[in-house]
Amino acid sequence: MTTAKKGLQAPAKKPHAMEESLQNLKGVGSKKYEALTKLHLTTIYSLLTHYPRDYEDRRMVTPISDLVTDDRQSVLGTIIKLEERRTARRMTILTALIGDGTGYLRLTWFNQQFLKDKLTVGTRIYAVGKITPAYGGRGQLAMSPVADYAILSEGEEAETGILPIYPATAKLNQKFFRGLFAQLFEDGVDIPHLIPETIENKYRLLRREEAFHEVHFPEAYASLTLARERLAFEELYLIQCGLLLLRQKYLSERQGVRHLMDGELVQRVQAALPFQLTEDQARAVHEIKRDMEKALPMRRLLQGDVGSGKTVVALLALVKTVENGCQGALLAPTEILARQHYEKFAEILAPTEVRVELLVGGLGKKRREEIYQALSDGEIDLIVGTHALLQEGVRFASLGLVVTDEQHRFGVEQRAALEKKGGEYLRPDLLIMTATPIPRTMTLTVYGDLDVSRIEHLPPGRQAVRTYCRQQASRGKIYDFVESEIAQGRQAYVVCPLIETGEEDETETEREERRLSAAVDVYEELQKGKFRRRRVGLLHGRLPAKEKESVMRAFHRGEIDLLVTTTVVEVGVDVPNASIMVIEDAERFGLAQLHQLRGRIGRGAHRSYCILISESRGDTAKERLTLMETTTDGFKLAEEDLRLRGPGQFFGSMQHGLPDLKMANVLGDMDILLKARQAAQETMGNAALAKEAEKSLSLIYQEFFRRIQAV
Ligand code: ADP
Ligand code: MG
Repeated sequence: MTTAKKGLQAPAKKPHAMEESLQNLKGVGSKKYEALTKLHLTTIYSLLTHYPRDYEDRRMVTPISDLVTDDRQSVLGTIIKLEERRTARRMTILTALIGDGTGYLRLTWFNQQFLKDKLTVGTRIYAVGKITPAYGGRGQLAMSPVADYAILSEGEEAETGILPIYPATAKLNQKFFRGLFAQLFEDGVDIPHLIPETIENKYRLLRREEAFHEVHFPEAYASLTLARERLAFEELYLIQCGLLLLRQKYLSERQGVRHLMDGELVQRVQAALPFQLTEDQARAVHEIKRDMEKALPMRRLLQGDVGSGKTVVALLALVKTVENGCQGALLAPTEILARQHYEKFAEILAPTEVRVELLVGGLGKKRREEIYQALSDGEIDLIVGTHALLQEGVRFASLGLVVTDEQHRFGVEQRAALEKKGGEYLRPDLLIMTATPIPRTMTLTVYGDLDVSRIEHLPPGRQAVRTYCRQQASRGKIYDFVESEIAQGRQAYVVCPLIETGEEDETETEREERRLSAAVDVYEELQKGKFRRRRVGLLHGRLPAKEKESVMRAFHRGEIDLLVTTTVVEVGVDVPNASIMVIEDAERFGLAQLHQLRGRIGRGAHRSYCILISESRGDTAKERLTLMETTTDGFKLAEEDLRLRGPGQFFGSMQHGLPDLKMANVLGDMDILLKARQAAQETMGNAALAKEAEKSLSLIYQEFFRRIQAV
């Protein structure tokens, strides 16, 4: 790797540009290029940010005579003997005896048949792993299993130092990547500056070009840490700059609606509620009112666990806008939810003169046209709907407030599309509700442009849902229990996930297909078997809208005792009489999702039970499900989920519209995030610096920048 050192101040040849194709690199032929494309590596920039997923410390090779048991150590030796065995349980064990002149060591691999052909007596090999006494080896040592190894060709030196380990594929191995980076840095790269120098100096950041070199060719762990910090800072800083820019645009380009103090209508609706607002709800309502009464457009996130009572907070805000002569819109992610909100609102508002309507995809053309007309004439005060609200034909006379429910299913652009329907001059206030308990780091990363209200405590009188993990074998007993609850007048859910873990390249439709058949199978089995005397219903995403609606309505009215369903019930469904939920193959769900599902029960006065069925014996799966038994705190579950499953799955669905984080870690990098946020505030508060940051954004986060511009 000596070639790579100092590679950045380049050479006689012209350095590579960031947007240049990887095909320009020596060693990248059309086959390799195709394989790189599969990893989304096409440009020099994408390669530079193909960061190692880990590092292997190979600075020390230990002579075999100096090895100690237990520790992970590296050795370099020549193969003296090779042996392959099959065990009774169909496992293959490959053993190589190596020597290095100071002693002998046994290396063992399990189930790696392909390796045998690559090794021969006389091969030089480098191996890393934990050292144990060899079984029956009379004092001899073994490395069993080998954690990592490199086969050295004739005359080749073992790579030493801190070696990067890249996300690789069968066609692109570690050696290829290391070689490619060596080539790249030898050629030289023209690396543009992203962070203004004053900020770089103030926050003592490593320079960008040094950081890139260091992550791919680390000199030492200390400098590697600095490099990673710099690159993580860069990502978070630019995203924060973008979010602040977004916020500035909202606040400056158009006037917001200035609402007046609460009048008689708001008070009347609030007084007519069947309950008192909790302290948290009252505080949220207060914060929202304060924003609405300002001329600046409100941009607020309302965060509260499932069942914490966000809907009523939204309703009061919507009534406030109506009282001010404006229209309010509530955007829900599914038709089921939109309908539920609509019915609840209509009921509460029945004694008032407020006109509420529902707009969903399934309406007939005539009905739709009527609603469009009434909306643009200002006859409808409050509209509840799905994506149908975003349609071209929808125009408002005077939109004062937009509320989105469970917003992580809507992107920045969709929100913007709806806000624009309010006309040219006034920007409506915006309230985003989410039940996803997001750790603070994430809230800042994802919603850095918003103010936050939190509902932390559930309304009084709720009984915590009792959760139990059970195996398939207990199914009979579980169904007996469900039956006894139904006999007492309660209702039950049976939730079915995917049947099996999907193949990587499975399409959305195929996945849905399997999910569907699972629910359908369970439905048929229960309906014909154990629960043949009960009213059993089936609900899944692919039923026609009309049917979904009637099933849900029947369940609401208590005309279905047991509802077999997929995760379509996950968000927001509110049937207080349902007191029991059985979740099949529970290990397939994330904790946050299980928590959301479980939030469908325990909504009424009845003691509620959630039963997680799982055969999974894996430690992580067990640990996760056990946690469900002991914890009802959504925040804690979300954090555990992140810790156990990594941010990818959790973050993925929420990140709508934001660029991917390649270096920064949403859980661990709180310190860096806070510094980056402060730096971003300093930057955006200074016209010259802000200009630089905008340019950087347009350079590396083109898509994100385009979205900001489009708002
Ligand atoms: P979420 O925050 O999950 O959207 P909802 O708004 O659906 O929660 O409220 C859950 C249930 O709690 C509803 O049945 C609602 O009527 C009830 N609820 C809301 N606020 C209160 C309160 N202050 N006291 C008692 N019950 C309440
Ligand atoms: Mg809700």
